Amino acid sequence: MAQRTMREIRAGEVPIDGGTAIQEDPDRPVFRGNGSYDYVCVSCGNVLAQAMDPEYMTRRVRLRCGRCRTVNVSADVPVTPARRPRPGAGER
Ligand SMILES: [Zn+2]
Repeated sequence: MAQRTMREIRAGEVPIDGGTAIQEDPDRPVFRGNGSYDYVCVSCGNVLAQAMDPEYMTRRVRLRCGRCRTVNVSADVPVTPARRPRPGAGER
């Protein structure tokens, strides 16, 4: 099982939708799925979500670590580039 480290939510990174899942028991992941990755807390390395697919771990999914109380958000959501053409890419 590959492991991915989440990242700490930034101050002012206001949740637009969804909620923060709180890990009640540090020994039990909040989510358990059939995906490819374990997601661990950026601060203490605690497993917050087990066997999840990246498609599910979007920015909407926030997990508060039961051990250190850091609110984590998935770090590796592919950032969709703004529709900004590369300079000099054919135009003008
Ligand atoms: Zn933690």
